[in-house]
Amino acid sequence: MSRTPQGLLAQGDFEARVEAECVRCLDVYEQALHTVFNELFAFKRQGMTEAGLILPEDGNIDFSPLVWEYLNLEVPIKPLCRPDCKGLCVMCGANLNEETCEHQSQVIKED
Ligand SMILES: [Zn+2]
Ligand SMILES: [Zn+2]
Repeated sequence: MSRTPQGLLAQGDFEARVEAECVRCLDVYEQALHTVFNELFAFKRQGMTEAGLILPEDGNIDFSPLVWEYLNLEVPIKPLCRPDCKGLCVMCGANLNEETCEHQSQVIKED
């Protein structure tokens, strides 16, 4: 936190791990999230930034809604358990990260 003429500037650096489901192989895995932000908590309404944050009268800032919002932006739209996930066989559903099934020579690759 640092003090500015308009308010308190909060600089955050947060990491989290969430459970995500891989879009290719449907495995549940731990997705690491990382976010950094700068937000001004204004002393007065006139000093507010676009984010509309104001310093509460009791001086206690609850960061959880803000952190939640920022971390949510980091959640991938198409989560992958790993960049080179091979996914499931479209014929038999075998997890191709773990095994190679008989269909693999004839499967057309799709994203
Ligand atoms: Zn996967
Ligand atoms: Zn197969």
